[in-house]
Amino acid sequence: MANDTTPSPVDLLGTVPDELAGALAAHFLARGEPAYRVQQVLHWIYQSDAVDVDGMTNLPEPERKALSEAFSLSEPEAQTVSISSDGTVKHLWKLVDGELIESVLIPTDDRLTLCLSSQAGCAMGCTFCATGWAGFRRQLSAGEIVAQYRGAGRWARTHEMGPISNIVYMGMGEPLANRKAVHASLTILNQGFSVGARRITVSTVGLVPGILELAERPEQFRLALSLHSPESALRQELIPLEKRFPLPAVVRALQKFNEAGGKRITFEYTMIRGVNDDLMLAPKLADLATSLHAFVNLIPFNPIPFQDWGPSTRERIAAFRETLEARGVAVAVRQPRGRDIDAACGQLRATAMKDADAS
Ligand code: SAH
Ligand code: SF4
Repeated sequence: MANDTTPSPVDLLGTVPDELAGALAAHFLARGEPAYRVQQVLHWIYQSDAVDVDGMTNLPEPERKALSEAFSLSEPEAQTVSISSDGTVKHLWKLVDGELIESVLIPTDDRLTLCLSSQAGCAMGCTFCATGWAGFRRQLSAGEIVAQYRGAGRWARTHEMGPISNIVYMGMGEPLANRKAVHASLTILNQGFSVGARRITVSTVGLVPGILELAERPEQFRLALSLHSPESALRQELIPLEKRFPLPAVVRALQKFNEAGGKRITFEYTMIRGVNDDLMLAPKLADLATSLHAFVNLIPFNPIPFQDWGPSTRERIAAFRETLEARGVAVAVRQPRGRDIDAACGQLRATAMKDADAS
């Protein structure tokens, strides 16, 4: 009979490397096994890509059995893999309890970026975002975040896309509302899988305590703020969290992030026609970006099922860009990738849920 004192297995993917090495050392010591077993297992996790404990072929059979009893290695199953005509690849992952999350591989000339999810759904309720409309389902564990990197990374390598070079926390969910798991996942990706901190970007809608906590980390993880308006009143209409953490407080937190040294902030500005693309806003956006030395990404709004908004016109986006550039702000216009496979924030899950409702 199972009882409450049975220790739950240690998650091989979701435990930070130092702690994992300690747990493995204790495990093998208790079994009278040589200390090098620890490095063998760590190698299978971080370098050699064992899909499960049985795949750790240099461990003797009884050791694999004992390891799989005390430790768990579980990757979600890919329910669907969608490939866009522009090369973007989207995985819809089914978690152990049936929840669905997504990750997106985005190839460009010199890099392969993975966009991963930090929560199933999102509680922030931003009015322009499909994930926000779908609501919050649950937090992801650190292991479930890391498993997206491992699963998508294996897919990329076996489909001639090469290794993942960059990671952005821009899939489903608000990473700074799942701080414990997200911080652990950052440590694991950086220290375990050796992804440089400067190649990892956490995107937030502006949770001040989370920004301050990220600023305190010694590594140089990058931060993106989903700004969408330089004016608090308009921002409130798009992002309910603005009421709790108004822009001036977010800006103060970003200043602290800058003071912590060397990490460039990015502003994400989703351009919605007639909503947040008034030309009067562009100089204000420029001033804010200048004061924080922020890089600005202008992103045409990707239409979602629950809103009749559309993207700003090309001309308006160009006018914003020119105003920013004239004021010395570094800016890029990001073309939406993977539109034909619904690769915008939360879209595939929304489609999958619609399909499930219809059946
Ligand atoms: N919760 C975090 C990260 C996930 S959202 C955040 O909000 O920053 C990732 C990005 O997708 C955010 O910049 C968000 O504003 C943007 N986004 C959401 N819905 C969008 C849409 N319909 N069109 C374009 N960008 C969208
Ligand atoms: Fe959540 Fe980000 Fe979507 Fe807002 S934009 S609802 S914070 S995922």
